[in-house]
Amino acid sequence: VTAASGPPASDHLRRLLYRADGAVTGDMPVEVVIPDTAEDVAEAVRNATAAGLSIVPRGAGTGLSGGASPLGRAAVVSLMRLDRILDVDPDNRTALVEPGVRNLELSRHTRADGLMFGPDPSSQSTCTIGGNIATNAGGPRCYAVGSTTSHVLAATVVLGDGSTVEVGADYADPIGLDTRAVVVGSEGTVGLVVRALVKLSPVSEATRTVLCAFARLQQAGDATARIVRSGVNATSIELMDRTTIAICENFTQAGLPLEAEAMLLCEVEGTDLTIGEELADLERLASEAGAYLVQVAESEEQATLWWRARKGAFGAVAQLASNYHLHDGVVPRTRLVEALERVQEIGRRSGTLIRLVAHAGDGNLHPLIPYDGSDPEQSERVHAVSEQIMDVCLEMGGAVSGEHGVGVSKVHLMDRVFSAVDLEYQGHIRCAFDPDAVMNPRKVLPSPPSCAERIVPLDSEMWV
Ligand SMILES: Cc1cc2nc3c(=O)[nH]c(=O)nc-3n(C[C@H](O)[C@H](O)[C@H](O)COP(=O)(O)OP(=O)(O)OC[C@H]3O[C@@H](n4cnc5c(N)ncnc54)[C@H](O)[C@@H]3O)c2cc1C
Repeated sequence: VTAASGPPASDHLRRLLYRADGAVTGDMPVEVVIPDTAEDVAEAVRNATAAGLSIVPRGAGTGLSGGASPLGRAAVVSLMRLDRILDVDPDNRTALVEPGVRNLELSRHTRADGLMFGPDPSSQSTCTIGGNIATNAGGPRCYAVGSTTSHVLAATVVLGDGSTVEVGADYADPIGLDTRAVVVGSEGTVGLVVRALVKLSPVSEATRTVLCAFARLQQAGDATARIVRSGVNATSIELMDRTTIAICENFTQAGLPLEAEAMLLCEVEGTDLTIGEELADLERLASEAGAYLVQVAESEEQATLWWRARKGAFGAVAQLASNYHLHDGVVPRTRLVEALERVQEIGRRSGTLIRLVAHAGDGNLHPLIPYDGSDPEQSERVHAVSEQIMDVCLEMGGAVSGEHGVGVSKVHLMDRVFSAVDLEYQGHIRCAFDPDAVMNPRKVLPSPPSCAERIVPLDSEMWV
């Protein structure tokens, strides 16, 4: 890249690279700052806001809803150089980490102590703990262990005025309002997480991966319900439909059942003594629901390959077209199959091939639509289909994001999930952290009035 005028090429390139996350291209950032320490983060925030810029926190940029994509005149603050695991405390089962530590790296680091970080987003080899906290990330195991919010005890947060606050505590059940819960899932709109105390979970003595194949989607849903109800220690229940199985198999050659209409990939955990019984129970339940194949991975390599196929589904779809649209909706778990069938029907009616992947255990569906983004007709159709899928999730009592967050791409749908009063109060809370509205503005909450309008002076009549 050569730049005849304007900023040096390297600066231009850097700003170009930080313009988008994994899915949404935003405006060109005015500045990209990559600090080394929490103190540098605070200074960067003060400098940027003094220059009239808003702040966009950024981890690895794997987000899929535009949370880390700049809008307007913004400085992107990357947390990637704050990447130290500061302490692991096996007795308390906690780790003190900086936000740029990658999800999988933390679990690898703590494995020697028999511990792991519970949330396992499919992007876990790349995404950061800071990004996981900011998006309240989920993953296959989160059906059993809860999403990221269940694994964060406390955090140190730099606010938009450069000050630093602590949220949460290193002991159970802290008193007072739960400000920790406000930070988790706030997608960078209240502050920048610069340190976090997270819970670690014990690594099970015995873990097995089981593949169940079905001739009908409905049977896979039935098997999921039976497994959940039974209490079998299945820590992941992942669903793929026939079209997704085909592309994942083509991508990874993992030996997936190409003739199946749907398959479940389950992880079962236990001790060396109990795992046999857990597996027998799961096999029985899946067969009762109509599985024509229940196969336990024969080796760790086979299990890893199956999981690579499942976790690589988004990448596999990218083979098919220059663009793909990925949905992230959630419905009550028991209505998942009904929702998937309605999505298939939308695909049939509109002549769009929709591939289905779902965290069946927690009702989180990820329909995938490959398309050619340079074709306006296709883009328009995919957009219309996407809105219809969101309608299905909402009609079924679900929400427009199961785990990827609201960012910028779902912000227009928030008033369909929350009442005006709900949104107003969420706005008040956000303003309490960020009165100057400099933290990732225009994300998550739809066009709020300015914070100045929201904040009621203490001597106002409202208080008397
Ligand atoms: C192939 C693929 C698979 C995926 N699978 C899953 C999945 O299974 N489950 C899931 O939940 N998500 C998944 N995602 C989405 C994404 O990986 C997660 O949302 C992840 O948590 C984002 O982490 P990140 O470090 O990349 O954050 P970024 O994308 O950089 O940022 C995400 C949001 O967090 C904010 N942010 C980042 N760091 C901080 C910080 N330190 N302080 C304050 N705010 C911050 C940003 O402003 C932005 O709003 C997937 C993405 C891809 C590409």
